[in-house]
Amino acid sequence: MTTILSSNLGYPRIGEKRQWKRAIEAFWRGDINATCLQEQMKSLRLHNLKKQKELGIDLIPVGDFSLYDHLLDTAISFNIIPERFTHHDPTDLSCYFAIARGEKNAVAAEMTKWFNTNYHYIVPELQGTEPSLLENRALSYYEEAKEELNIDGKPVIVGPITFVKLAKGYHENELENWVNKLLPLYEQILHELSAAGAEWVQIDEPILGTNLSETEIKLVERVYQMIDDHVSGVQIILQTYFETVQHYHRIIKLPVKGIGLDFVHGEHIDVINKFGFPTDKALGVGIINGRNVWRADLEDKYQLLETIQRVANPETLIIQPSCSLLHVPVTKELEEKLDPLVKNGLSFADEKLKEIQTLTTALHEENDAVQHAFTESKEAINYLDQSDYRSHLTESIRKDAKRELPFLERKKYQQKKLQLPLLPTTTIGSLPQTLEVKQTRTKWRKGEISEQVYNEFIESETKRWIHIQEKLDLDVLVHGEFERTDMVEYFGEKLKGFAVTEFGWVQSYGSRCVKPPLLVGNVEWEKAITVKEITYAQSLTNKPVKGMLTGPVTILNWSFVHEQLPRFTVQNQIALALEKEVLALEKAGISIIQVDEPALREGLPLNRLKWPNYFDAAVQAFKLATSTVKHETQIHTHMCYSEFGEIYEVIDDLDADVISIETSRSHGEIIETFETNDYKKEIGLGVYDIHSPRIPTLQELEMNIKRALETIDIEQFWINPDCGLKTRNEEETIAALENMVAAAKKLRVHQ
Ligand code: GLN
Ligand code: ZN
Repeated sequence: MTTILSSNLGYPRIGEKRQWKRAIEAFWRGDINATCLQEQMKSLRLHNLKKQKELGIDLIPVGDFSLYDHLLDTAISFNIIPERFTHHDPTDLSCYFAIARGEKNAVAAEMTKWFNTNYHYIVPELQGTEPSLLENRALSYYEEAKEELNIDGKPVIVGPITFVKLAKGYHENELENWVNKLLPLYEQILHELSAAGAEWVQIDEPILGTNLSETEIKLVERVYQMIDDHVSGVQIILQTYFETVQHYHRIIKLPVKGIGLDFVHGEHIDVINKFGFPTDKALGVGIINGRNVWRADLEDKYQLLETIQRVANPETLIIQPSCSLLHVPVTKELEEKLDPLVKNGLSFADEKLKEIQTLTTALHEENDAVQHAFTESKEAINYLDQSDYRSHLTESIRKDAKRELPFLERKKYQQKKLQLPLLPTTTIGSLPQTLEVKQTRTKWRKGEISEQVYNEFIESETKRWIHIQEKLDLDVLVHGEFERTDMVEYFGEKLKGFAVTEFGWVQSYGSRCVKPPLLVGNVEWEKAITVKEITYAQSLTNKPVKGMLTGPVTILNWSFVHEQLPRFTVQNQIALALEKEVLALEKAGISIIQVDEPALREGLPLNRLKWPNYFDAAVQAFKLATSTVKHETQIHTHMCYSEFGEIYEVIDDLDADVISIETSRSHGEIIETFETNDYKKEIGLGVYDIHSPRIPTLQELEMNIKRALETIDIEQFWINPDCGLKTRNEEETIAALENMVAAAKKLRVHQ
């Protein structure tokens, strides 16, 4: 009798129709109280668990659920509360959401991307309170699943090394200190889980896929040895994902019962073939891609499992997704408008669990249902491969696309043309998407109002906001992106090669979800995408209105690209399509064109050795899209989030004339990067955080700008918020921008 088990690593929180988001936002608005929110969350949590059980999963994760973010949950359960929020009761929801979203006198905690995904976690700040175990969340959720559904779940916790490495507020050489402080708390969690009868516990250590130093890997060895010495009764599965683990031969010797590896990203198959896998451990085989929505070729996967069985103990495999299914939508069942060919090729979370269940069954026995599923999956892939989506040919790629003149020379042409003041003010692109904007779009989509009525509405919003921006006296205006739901999906709808879903949402940050388009085949530009809206906006004002496009790297990273398509080829196809749009904008008289690349940093491989390839491809694509414009056309780009030190050179290589970067949530750390480099191009370091409803004061804005001007030449500096304003309301936005423009004007005078 074999003991091969099926398992899941984490399930999407948001519900089939984003019930999760609705409930949380209703609570923020004060429409429902905390008890009501908790009840709704519980029922969603149980619904999610029940589904996984019905889909035949043996090891069902518990404790992966969250009301905002699991890193924030972990921090609070350890009583790790930033100083500025310690007036709250740490166990109260008000504390939780205040840290996440900021409040009147306290800025929100920093938020950053979870490894190379578009999921954002709240960065724990270690310098505040003394850690203690306030709540054993894993235990509460374990008990809940057992009592309510008779599910003996597998508690999931973020491991100590990953947790501390992702936290901030300590010096590098205090890592061990902090891990030591938290270790007893981890042990207590595990003791209590063991006493409650938990059989398996999943400890997530994705940090093991990054380049750890010798000291750090020694710390990993010591920590897991300590846990093994002190805790008995539970079997620990050490879970990694997103990349090949570094120091493989040492990781597999750790005293844990199982190790979970990602067999989709990275080269684990080569590694285990070369170094083997200990037969006394269970191997969690992450075989189904947890980060993509396309159906797997089950026969191929089965063969891979057979290869793995020859190396590892065939009796103790655990079949699972490559990572938590947090990164994919819930189910494809609800999709009614998709081309059936495309829908047939999809596999969202529920369908992926079914694939896992099928593969697990296949390893136990051969039966007709399994054979049928194998054939069906292969056919689905072949149909797509032979379809029209794949039939067009790529244009040949110009390898060394670059602007005709170097920056400092073309800058003169741009200055002459644009005549901007010192410290020019602008915004990042989107303006508040009010309920009215969203509702009108829904009505138009449902056919309740005509195309013409919808267009007129969009124009009236644009017009209203051009006037507001003029009144605010901003220098470079935007049209507001009212016609866009999402910066990637919008282009996905207009470019050939993409398809879009109705319910394919995934959590991005907090309650915010995104709906990545599906990249099915060859990408082509058919007709102008943004020209109509921008030229309309430009016709209303004498100030320059920025053209607004999403860049090739971001479109690629935020789409679900079919695994049969070579990523970099597709990226260049997108770039060439965008180049046509850039030139169309220029031809229509637009003199500033922004090509956003917020996903550039996030897409970086975990393993630094793979960075040069990624960078080269990114730079090539960006330049393909932007370098054939005239000297006087100013190219902007925008990026989100910190750690720019790492990608500084790439930013320079993109050769955009102006870059705006999100800065305030990383509390000024980016500025240091510019201290040590001689950056010549123009730059707008975001002067306030748009993720928080808080309105920045004039004083604080001035301070932020002055701090930046200590290291950046005033001639190079732009004044803008951190990111697009679509999630903010009108009142907040106007108030904040008023202060921002006032700060800029004040500083101009003092020069
Ligand atoms: N232009 C986009 C906006 O303003 C950029 C968004 C982003 O960086 N994520 O919404
Ligand atoms: Zn941004």
